[in-house]
Amino acid sequence: MKKVALLGATGSIGDSTCAILRKHPEHFKLYAISAHSNWQKALKLIQEFKPRHVVVTSQESHRAIQQAIKPGLTELHFGANALDALVQEPEVDMVVAGIVGSAGMSSVLAATHAGKTLLLANKESIVAAGALVMPLAKKTGAQIIPLDSEHNALYQCLPQDYQTGSRPKQVSHLTLTASGGPFWSKPLSEFEAITPAQAVAHPQWDMGAKISVDSATLMNKGLEVIEAHWLFQMPEKDIKVVVHPQSTIHSLVHYIDGSVLAQLGTPDMQIPISYGLGMRDRLSNGGAFLDLIALSRLDFLAPDEAKFPCLALARAAIKSGGTAAVILNAVNEISVAAFLSKQIKFMDIPKINAAIMDRFEIAQVESLAQITAIDQEVRALAQQMILQGKTS
Ligand code: NDP
Ligand code: MG
Repeated sequence: MKKVALLGATGSIGDSTCAILRKHPEHFKLYAISAHSNWQKALKLIQEFKPRHVVVTSQESHRAIQQAIKPGLTELHFGANALDALVQEPEVDMVVAGIVGSAGMSSVLAATHAGKTLLLANKESIVAAGALVMPLAKKTGAQIIPLDSEHNALYQCLPQDYQTGSRPKQVSHLTLTASGGPFWSKPLSEFEAITPAQAVAHPQWDMGAKISVDSATLMNKGLEVIEAHWLFQMPEKDIKVVVHPQSTIHSLVHYIDGSVLAQLGTPDMQIPISYGLGMRDRLSNGGAFLDLIALSRLDFLAPDEAKFPCLALARAAIKSGGTAAVILNAVNEISVAAFLSKQIKFMDIPKINAAIMDRFEIAQVESLAQITAIDQEVRALAQQMILQGKTS
């Protein structure tokens, strides 16, 4: 019986994880959950799973849950520090990092510090703090299993004894597939009119709002190139990207002899999450099986960098190194939020991201405190730029 701490239990990754836990009560106990604003959903999860601990990071939600639960089975905690303490609890066997954005960074580092098995969905923490997380994992023995479908696919195509944080042997390069989001075939002339509702309506995957917008700008693929760079210790030039609108091949490992191993499946996050929870053992999950005849064809295209400049920004951030990815990640969170609240247009996202990247000096990554300070500074400047309407 593995005790699971599910961070971001009220989100999309939380939903898919709970769906698997429900099917395997003999293997897993949902020991702890975290929630932010959705206290109603957190209450339902508390009633259903009766976790030992619940961490809530919004004051309003904390109050609401405190009033609703009776003292007894579940202990309620408040704040980001409580998240860090929770993941370090000796009782916790596995941490599912399903918080969105850099809000998930500190708990990812805390879990790594405690040497936990970390099932990583929160890519932003590796993008911004990969230089801290990966060496720390080596030191503490924390096993980091990627849940992001592309990285999980690569992990599935590497030998059973492969551990993230080292360059895989006999591998020439990696290819990450990208669905291309909702706009890969839309002419650039029509990008001006893209609305938040159109951008979050992903054609293949059902995900949270932030990652859906990132998929639409291809920033998500850019963040994933950075994520792959850290997890698999591969240079940027050896991480290719191909647009594959059917989202059937989830990514490919190219070995030095020309052999290519790929992982295929329906676009359902239960598949990578099952592989993570099973720690490479296969767990049935009730997801749909792939029907190749119904699918009939698989398409591949080169990404269009004029329509999707965010991908090149991410590649540039790897080449610059140091805190460049911290800056890119932070400004992107602000520009996506501003787009979702209709303060800026879709094509302002790459413009603001690029403008802020140009404005900040790059330093060596030293500590979480330094990253957090830069993150805050970038957010403040990006917000100011948006309020002043200076989007380029
Ligand atoms: P959602 O928006 O659906 O869920 C986000 C979760 O994070 C919610 O539980 C939310 O709580 C919580 N949260 C939000 N803000 C904070 C905060 N400031 N402090 C603590 N918790 C917070 O996102 P997804 O589930 O889609 O994505 C989660 C992560 O997984 C992201 O990093 C994403 O890139 C990654 N990922 C997601 C995939 C997917 O299919 N969804 C695929 C691959 C990667 P509440 O709802 O209570 O406010
Ligand atoms: Mg992905």
